[in-house]
Amino acid sequence: MSQRPASLSASSKPVLTDNLGRVINYVRLAVTDRCNLNCRYCRPKGPCNEARSELLSYEELERLTRLLVGMGINKVRITGGEPLVRHGMISFLRRLRAIAGLEQLALTTNATLLQPHLEALRELRLSGLNISLDTLSRERFAAITGQDLLAEVLAVIEAALQVQIPLKLNAVVQEGINTDELLDLARLAAARPIQVRFIEPMPFDGGNGFVAGNWNLARLREHFQANLPPLTETPLAGSTAQVFRVAGFRGTIGLIGGFSRCFCATCNKIRITPQGMMKTCLYDEGVLDLKAILRGGAGDEEIAGLIRECLGRRQVDGFAAASRRKDGGLAGSCASMATIGG
Ligand code: SAM
Repeated sequence: MSQRPASLSASSKPVLTDNLGRVINYVRLAVTDRCNLNCRYCRPKGPCNEARSELLSYEELERLTRLLVGMGINKVRITGGEPLVRHGMISFLRRLRAIAGLEQLALTTNATLLQPHLEALRELRLSGLNISLDTLSRERFAAITGQDLLAEVLAVIEAALQVQIPLKLNAVVQEGINTDELLDLARLAAARPIQVRFIEPMPFDGGNGFVAGNWNLARLREHFQANLPPLTETPLAGSTAQVFRVAGFRGTIGLIGGFSRCFCATCNKIRITPQGMMKTCLYDEGVLDLKAILRGGAGDEEIAGLIRECLGRRQVDGFAAASRRKDGGLAGSCASMATIGG
């Protein structure tokens, strides 16, 4: 009987793994570092918007995606900055949708520019739409983001539900800023088939003075257990979030311990920044300059080999990755989530 090559699964789909045997099947593409909002926990300090030539072009992003799908990636999330500020985004999504083997295509957005694109996204059979929403107060929304656009975002959330795009809301938990609203945000899932997710703040605020809050995963869990109807955890393979059903709710709530880094053992994702750096961990400072490699004329096999090499020395978790940064570690870093993509 002939032996199947180790990199092929029983269904002959390629499988990409790292040095610790973690399956890598998910890539987050940050397609721009520009954003029309200026969220206090995310914004870069000073100007960071890179010249267009510094960004990976759509052609380069599509080529990388095809290559990665051929290696075992089956899910792509488009993020940024704000993806919808990049001209031609919907056409780009259509091109990605046509890639055979790409099973899930998802988008993370602040939703302020989403309304005109909802029908196109429905036609694209988007597998997931994540919308950032940190508050239900108009004044606070303006204070957090720099724009008075809460009403628009709330309206587009309802419209996305109408066209039946699977929806998650992301709230970054900000001590003293929105922590008195966590229950109200969670209750958005009471009558809607959505997941409302609460994210521990992470030190990627562009050096604006990140302070680890005491609203960590454990406290969030206790808070919801004490104040919402009974919660039942629903373990989901490969999920970054701890997901809970809430008695009587149509939707669910999710808790994301991005600062606690408690899901590294099953982390299935890599990231590509707008400038084309590949990250094998949110907390590393980039392990492969894909833009230089692409623009240097490398062929697909060579690029695939370099990606595999990086995965062959992936750090065990986000603490190890952070400790190996050469920019002074996270404390000395001015990394901004807008240049990483979340
Ligand atoms: N512009 C889009 C948006 O607003 O969702 C996509 C990019 S944004 C960087 C992606 C996600 O990262 C959002 O859910 C945002 O709330 C989250 N995020 C940004 N900065 C963060 C931080 N310092 N800690 C935790 N999450 C953060």
